[in-house]
Amino acid sequence: MEPRRPVPEPSIPGSLFSISVLGVPVRFHFTFVLLAVFLVFMGLDGPSGAEAAIYVLSLFGCILLHELGHALVARRYGIGTHEIVLFPIGGVARLERNPRPREELWIALAGPAVNLVIAAGLLGAAAAASASVDWESVFARRSGSLLGQIAAGNLLLAAFNMLPAFPMDGGRVLRAALALRIGEERATAVAARAGRAFAILMGLFGLISGNFMLVFVAFFVYLGAAQESAAVLGRALTQGVPVKAAMVTDFRTLGHGDSIRDAANLLLATSQQDFPVVHGDQVLGLLGRSTLLRALAQQGPDGYVAGAMDRDYTVLTPGMDLAEAVPLLAATASCALVMDEGRLLGLLTKENLAEFLMLRRLGMEKPRQQGAMAG
Ligand SMILES: [Zn+2]
Repeated sequence: MEPRRPVPEPSIPGSLFSISVLGVPVRFHFTFVLLAVFLVFMGLDGPSGAEAAIYVLSLFGCILLHELGHALVARRYGIGTHEIVLFPIGGVARLERNPRPREELWIALAGPAVNLVIAAGLLGAAAAASASVDWESVFARRSGSLLGQIAAGNLLLAAFNMLPAFPMDGGRVLRAALALRIGEERATAVAARAGRAFAILMGLFGLISGNFMLVFVAFFVYLGAAQESAAVLGRALTQGVPVKAAMVTDFRTLGHGDSIRDAANLLLATSQQDFPVVHGDQVLGLLGRSTLLRALAQQGPDGYVAGAMDRDYTVLTPGMDLAEAVPLLAATASCALVMDEGRLLGLLTKENLAEFLMLRRLGMEKPRQQGAMAG
């Protein structure tokens, strides 16, 4: 039996309809759609409202181009993009795999570079039109021309994104540059610490100055930094480890002739939650805890497990890399079966995996310190 192919990753919750731009799916978060509706109403209010609405919508167009910059450079390295999601505070490009440090460096630089090119183009056009750029009016947002304002907005976007606060682009550049010297895991730890420290400073500054948008962005940066360091730790703990090292080998099975009552008794008698249903050596299906409880409620205890079990279960091979198996396990409601040529060897459960990772983390502390001293 073939291991199940990776399921497409779920989209960010709350993102609405999707359009395709240069082959990249672009989604709009519902809060972004609310903002766009608000801007349209503001635009109908009068000339100054219209100008403000055009300004904000143009900047969102530039944010989309910024994210496309990331996506297109990633594509050059053979990395696809799941989706770009636009939020009211900016965009996110979700790549299909994590880039290597050298790739990440260029992918991260591409976004702010797009904003610099746009700003240069707009200022160049303004200069060609009026023969001189009135720099004062470019940065005094109210008095400048709309094109000048959009150019200044792009310069701000580039500068803000290049702040060395992980997970912003500048933080990614910092992480990638450090990773080439001290390894990805330690580089992420340093960049994430810098990101959190920066987020706290930014949040405090926002609170003191009453700029709540800044507080909101700071919160986003803080969460992103914490999430990314957890993801990299998870990868470091699972990469190069075979599934068989983390699987449960001592487990109970149900026969295809067993009743739901038998299954419920086994659920109570053991700490196991999901039971493979077998006939001799052959695996017929998997009866997960939630499926079992549903069958008990709907059919009563006298039904047969063969009628209630899932025939569509996740199969892993014992030699598969744990880093590849974790997303497959995360996508299932129950456990995954570890099988070798149709033979059931073990179960990979979420509870056991969590314990395995905890033990491995404790075991990994020492070698890492020695490595740091040797380096
Ligand atoms: Zn970016």
